[in-house]
Amino acid sequence: MRFPQQLIDGYRAFLVGRLRLEQDRYRDLAESGQAPQIMVIGCCDSRVSPEVIFNARPGELFVVRNVANIVPPYAPDQQAHGVSAALEFAVGVLKIKHIVVLGHAQCGGVKAFVEDSEPLSPGDFIGNWMKLMAPAAVKIGPRDALSPAAYLASLEQANIVNSLDNLMTFPRLRTLIERGQAFVHGAYFGVATGQLSVRDVATG
Ligand SMILES: [Zn+2]
Repeated sequence: MRFPQQLIDGYRAFLVGRLRLEQDRYRDLAESGQAPQIMVIGCCDSRVSPEVIFNARPGELFVVRNVANIVPPYAPDQQAHGVSAALEFAVGVLKIKHIVVLGHAQCGGVKAFVEDSEPLSPGDFIGNWMKLMAPAAVKIGPRDALSPAAYLASLEQANIVNSLDNLMTFPRLRTLIERGQAFVHGAYFGVATGQLSVRDVATG
């Protein structure tokens, strides 16, 4: 099986386009190392690329993506935790100032949770992963009070807040936030409209 032609074509376009424009920046970043100020925790969804949405240049965003932009709670249990590892590096080494949890409309992960979908494999990795957003579902209340689409959107947004709450369970990050040395933000991207909503800390 050949390497996908789409990627070869895309890379060629990058070589003569963006790389040419950013060559010095890439060289500088290679020498001096990365020093992004902003971390984005986003969804794997191919329509919601943080670098594209925020028009980011190389070295500007430290990004971790997973199904449904979930931050699991702090759990120092010697198990493997991908998001926690990225957070540990972002906070401890990069001294990131801002952490943005970026949710989005039509999130397949949130939909799978709402529909209580059948496991896709014996491991039921998505099912188990999505259980982390159960507190968000409890907070927004019964689903029959809203239309299915409104409920989904409401849960997508509550899931962002749940991830923000879980960020506060990481002791070192919590201390930095309380000292005003780090900041967390919630944002929601409307795939069809391109509209970005940012959570108002004062009103929620
Ligand atoms: Zn998603």
